[in-house]
Amino acid sequence: RAKASLTVDVCFYEADMDQAVRARRRVTQALREALDNERFELHYQVQASVETGKATGYEVLLRWRGDDGDYISPSDFIPVAEETGLILPIGEWVLRQACRQAAAWEEPHRIAVNLSPVQLSHVDLPRLVHQVLLETGLAPSRLELEITETAMISDMARTTHVLRQLKALGVTIAMDDFGTGYSSLSTLRAFPFDKIKLDRSFMTELDGAAPQSRAIIRAVLTIGESLSIPVLAEGVETPEQLAFLRAQGCDEVQGYLLGRPQPEADALSQGVAATPQFEAERAVA
Ligand code: C2E
Ligand code: MG
Ligand code: MG
Ligand code: MG
Repeated sequence: RAKASLTVDVCFYEADMDQAVRARRRVTQALREALDNERFELHYQVQASVETGKATGYEVLLRWRGDDGDYISPSDFIPVAEETGLILPIGEWVLRQACRQAAAWEEPHRIAVNLSPVQLSHVDLPRLVHQVLLETGLAPSRLELEITETAMISDMARTTHVLRQLKALGVTIAMDDFGTGYSSLSTLRAFPFDKIKLDRSFMTELDGAAPQSRAIIRAVLTIGESLSIPVLAEGVETPEQLAFLRAQGCDEVQGYLLGRPQPEADALSQGVAATPQFEAERAVA
């Protein structure tokens, strides 16, 4: 009896696997077509100085417009693109397109481009970045590259070498999603990051009764201050969160309170209008 049910389980398991493989193949094919047919777009989300309320830069976020016109979230397709290696041409497209667009802006705002760990380990990134900067004419100081801890863990020595070469070009490097990995503190020791981006999850929990997130945010801000690395808090949605971050000495913020990721023109025209939100925050403070 036990044996029979085991056989049934295995059959179900194989059917699931088969379905998963087919689903993956479909996504891969669709991604390839999206790349060929320019179905990708870049959205920009403002980052602002806590002190002045002014825009300090824009994070570049990839959007895939599906056949129905709706956007497919990067969290749904980036993992597949990473597994299949398609992240390499997609990532190159993002970098080139973002630099090209930003180079044409009236105001020389900085842009922050996300890099996949796969790009860090499989491409001669310093050469690619150098080439794209020359090609688009974007000043290197206007380009920030965001990397996550995962990229550091896989091969710390090689990754830090690549990051040093990138920095030598004049671009800056931010540690993304800080505090979610297994070795956040040792990655800070391994490389002199130009910015720490405190993960959104701490912001979400800030509103709850648990005092842990507050304590962790304070600790990260202290670390940033001690190492002279500015800290940007991700996912700031409420005036209360902004008030807390200001009181604790956080340098920069990014989140729906200031602006959602939007098409280039909308994000730029909305950029400096962050001030009303800052006023709302002062009112609750
Ligand atoms: P990330 O780099 O940590 O980007 C921040 C994410 O948080 C974005 O999600 C953004 O839309 C979202 N977000 C910003 N403010 C708020 C807020 O106040 N509340 C909430 N709930 N969410 C907020 P998105 O655009 O869906 O991107 C998800 C992730 O996909 C990114 O996380 C990044 O890891 C990856 N990604 C996006 N674009 C690229 C890209 O061009 N290349 C690579 N390799 N990864 C990318
Ligand atoms: Mg990011
Ligand atoms: Mg992040
Ligand atoms: Mg994140």
